[in-house]
Amino acid sequence: MSSRNQNLKEKLKKIENLEIISNSSDLRRLSKDFYNYSPILKEKLDGCVADFVVRPKDKIAVQKIAEICWELSIPLTLRGSGTGNYGQAVPLFKGIVMQMNYLDKIEEFYPDTGFVQVQSGCLMGDLNKQLEKHGRELRLLPSTWKTATIGGFIAGGSGGIGSIKWGFLRDPGNLLGLEAVTLNENPKLLKFDAEESEPLNHAYGTNGIITSLLIATDIKRKWYSMVIDCEDLEQAIEILQKCTITAIELKLGAILEKEIVDQMPIWFKGKSKNKINKILIQATLGSLKTIELICKKFKVKYFILGEEEKLLNGISEVVWNHTTLHMRSKDKNWTYLQMLLPLHREFELISALREKWGKKILWHIEAVSQQGVPRLAALPVLKWENSILLNQIIDNCKNLGAIIFNPHVFTVEGGGLGVIDTDQVKAKLKFDPKGLLNPGKLEGWEIKDEFQN
Ligand SMILES: Cc1cc2nc3c(=O)[nH]c(=O)nc-3n(C[C@H](O)[C@H](O)[C@H](O)COP(=O)(O)OP(=O)(O)OC[C@H]3O[C@@H](n4cnc5c(N)ncnc54)[C@H](O)[C@@H]3O)c2cc1C
Repeated sequence: MSSRNQNLKEKLKKIENLEIISNSSDLRRLSKDFYNYSPILKEKLDGCVADFVVRPKDKIAVQKIAEICWELSIPLTLRGSGTGNYGQAVPLFKGIVMQMNYLDKIEEFYPDTGFVQVQSGCLMGDLNKQLEKHGRELRLLPSTWKTATIGGFIAGGSGGIGSIKWGFLRDPGNLLGLEAVTLNENPKLLKFDAEESEPLNHAYGTNGIITSLLIATDIKRKWYSMVIDCEDLEQAIEILQKCTITAIELKLGAILEKEIVDQMPIWFKGKSKNKINKILIQATLGSLKTIELICKKFKVKYFILGEEEKLLNGISEVVWNHTTLHMRSKDKNWTYLQMLLPLHREFELISALREKWGKKILWHIEAVSQQGVPRLAALPVLKWENSILLNQIIDNCKNLGAIIFNPHVFTVEGGGLGVIDTDQVKAKLKFDPKGLLNPGKLEGWEIKDEFQN
């Protein structure tokens, strides 16, 4: 061990309520997330390993870590459960990975508003169970909700189950405030209101160490799952869009193209021999009545599976990036893209791409709300060949009007809208002036001099 790391270890050992991990296999494991869905990221990130992983058990320990990192100029990368796909939690420049999983308490529930103040390392599955006691549930869930932390979702996720109604995490109204420790000369635990929290929301932990969050929740409902069979993909899109503009309560609406359905687990495919496109819906029982009428009008077959929570395997397990997970469990060469399809030209884009690329691209669609407007997002899966082909497909999608959230880059901007959020950079200058938090992940940091005064 280098003398720098020896010195660092001595200092870490003096912190109370801190677990320190330094054996090489754990260091390797805890320096990774699910970036291997992208062959491009895999090549870039496979060799990145932290010098130490630490797990603070209280907020004082978090502050002490920040003090040491400041004093010795050590890079600090935060980790929830490490389920991100963009390499968000991977330390590019060694240093410390701080896993937040012991900060897992619900600090306060506000019955009048349904808001909940929760520590960042709380697993979303546990949080949802606790909320149920108050007749509430989380508005938005990634398909990894059983294992992912709420802090990791806010700092690194985008949306998921529930986005059909509640949009994306960065939409005003979902995050009401947070508490974070700074990494400056005198690290402090600061409280941020909804507006002040915006630059830290989806910033990959590059401008603050989130210790707790104030988030809005929804009334707990019983969600029923339904599957609709459609011979024709265009018709499936038409039916899903009809559902999203109807006066019903929906939690999820997705479409899997038949070749994708064919690769899903047996319990989902059923016994049917014919490959068929499927629409997957989660709605309240009353809302299903209206969807049944839509199905009858379109003369398509449908199956009501039952209450999602009571199913042995629910449809939540085959949507969002779990679709890609199942495809990859059959063949590791499957990778994917994420995009917002152009409004009113969704199928136009799909048919143009089909004409050019055929079955090199298989379609997985998710209904979302974007700034209050029902839209279709897509997470198509593609067989990996090389980065030239991938970039050609990406350019093709962009030229046809899709907005790409590229899962083959590890920066906040690359995986997001592609533009620098100046407020994120300003927050980093203030709360992390040495640029030690998750270095290399915020492209805007490269032009920080423009914001110095
Ligand atoms: C199969 C599969 C399906 C998925 N489905 C979805 C989906 O539906 N929707 C979606 O949005 N994502 C999805 N993801 C990505 C990921 O699971 C989620 O974004 C998840 O919420 C991340 O939580 P985590 O605790 O694992 O965070 P991590 O991966 O550990 O961290 C994510 C980012 O947040 C930062 N971070 C973590 N904790 C803190 C903190 N306390 N303060 C500041 N920064 C912090 C990390 O540095 C990192 O940059 C999926 C991933 C997989 C593998």
